[in-house]
Amino acid sequence: MKYSIFWHRRDLRLNDNAALYQALKAGGPVLSIFIFDQNILEDLNNRQDARVDFIHQELQRLQKELRELGSDLLVLYGRPQAVWTQLLQDWSIEKVYTNRDYEPYAKKRDAAIAELLQKENIPLLTKKDHVIFEELEVEKKTSGPYTVFTPYSKQWKAKLDSKKTAAGESFYLQSYPNENYQQNYASLPGNFEIPSLESMGFAPSQLNFPSRLLKQKRIKKYEETRNFPALEEGTSRLGLHFRFGTISIREKARKARKLNATYLNELIWRDFYAQILANFPKVVGQSFRPQYDQIEWRNNEEEFEAWCQGKTGYPLVDAGMRELNATGYMHNRVRMLVASFLCKHLLIDWRWGEAYFAEKLLDFDLASNNGGWQWAAGSGTDAAPYFRIFSPESQLKKFDAELKYVKKWVKEYGSRRYPQPIVEHKFARQRCLATYKSALNQDNA
Ligand SMILES: Cc1cc2nc3c(=O)[nH]c(=O)nc-3n(C[C@H](O)[C@H](O)[C@H](O)COP(=O)(O)OP(=O)(O)OC[C@H]3O[C@@H](n4cnc5c(N)ncnc54)[C@H](O)[C@@H]3O)c2cc1C
Repeated sequence: MKYSIFWHRRDLRLNDNAALYQALKAGGPVLSIFIFDQNILEDLNNRQDARVDFIHQELQRLQKELRELGSDLLVLYGRPQAVWTQLLQDWSIEKVYTNRDYEPYAKKRDAAIAELLQKENIPLLTKKDHVIFEELEVEKKTSGPYTVFTPYSKQWKAKLDSKKTAAGESFYLQSYPNENYQQNYASLPGNFEIPSLESMGFAPSQLNFPSRLLKQKRIKKYEETRNFPALEEGTSRLGLHFRFGTISIREKARKARKLNATYLNELIWRDFYAQILANFPKVVGQSFRPQYDQIEWRNNEEEFEAWCQGKTGYPLVDAGMRELNATGYMHNRVRMLVASFLCKHLLIDWRWGEAYFAEKLLDFDLASNNGGWQWAAGSGTDAAPYFRIFSPESQLKKFDAELKYVKKWVKEYGSRRYPQPIVEHKFARQRCLATYKSALNQDNA
């Protein structure tokens, strides 16, 4: 018997899954697999990395769901090339289906696997699933990718409305009813074993994962609540689930469209940064605006350490960093502030902060993280002008006036144990302006 293989990556769900739908609809039998990629896992510093644990738990759930359907999930560990070479020996494969991933490493990996499969005349068929619009789908009239958010978002919304289904829904938000073809999963005895975390060199993490359920009330009130980090339900906390595809972006965008335009806008930011990464992969490691790579960063290691630990003496910055270290989450408002503080007040290279977030955030996503950091540093596509420097004190007054968030995370705040500010705000502001100006003027000279 020849199998179609469906390869799960950023799409750990059975429902409303584009390439899985294509595989099942084509007739099957469909064997579902996941590969714990040794290349990625080896790069992680923390042996208790919560994201690995999260994936592991979600795979157990997926496997259970597939077993209930009389099938199974094959989970493998290794380098993708080696794993696929083995799969080609173990299974008679007709076609391979997967959803597209736009990160540079993933693109390279997928090209190599496509080549390997091609040698056996097996096609690798891919679909868009992770975003609403990918790469150049939302393009400027004069052609080429957008690099500024507002015109991009207008065009994004216009495109969404440009094609409707018979039911009046946007064509681009249609769900894929995989359940209609579930008889096409390969019939399997259900005896595949998922490699244990320990066998891959990891251990369970101590962190709690946010729920994937989106309460309508939260989204309806999003505008009123989203800027206040003390409110646990002020934002959706779905970042982790979007990242690993444990929820469908189309389903959430449909809801957002009905319930709250501001929430939909946030999902457009996600698409925006994904297309920036896909169209300008140089942003990994380089400033989008090259002249920003001439900035003379101070890169003081002690100050960086104080920032990481939440000991800068600026309470909102410190609360954010401590929340991140304790939970793997940080509120967006505070992410903007701590990122700005690192680059502008401390003049530490945005790439240091980006790497720290990449290690700690449960919802870490290369495209959005890079976009957020370059925005804060001023070096990015749609960046805040460099002379706009957040004042940590004014941010505190605006967004945590009652100090609820600060007191939750910085227990010693207000006591003698709390550190003095690492740098004086006005002085840091002037120093930043002078440093940026001198780097940016080099080009004009
Ligand atoms: C320096 C910095 C780094 C960031 N790193 C990441 C990251 O690694 N991964 C990540 O998903 N987001 C990142 N963001 C964006 C944003 O902070 C998070 O998406 C958001 O805080 C996640 O919480 P939530 O799910 O409650 O968001 P909500 O406010 O409920 O928003 C819903 C969803 O919209 C998307 N979204 C919201 N804001 C943005 C944004 N500015 N850019 C892109 N997508 C957005 C996310 O998928 C989010 O889950 C970063 C922002 C900054 C300033």
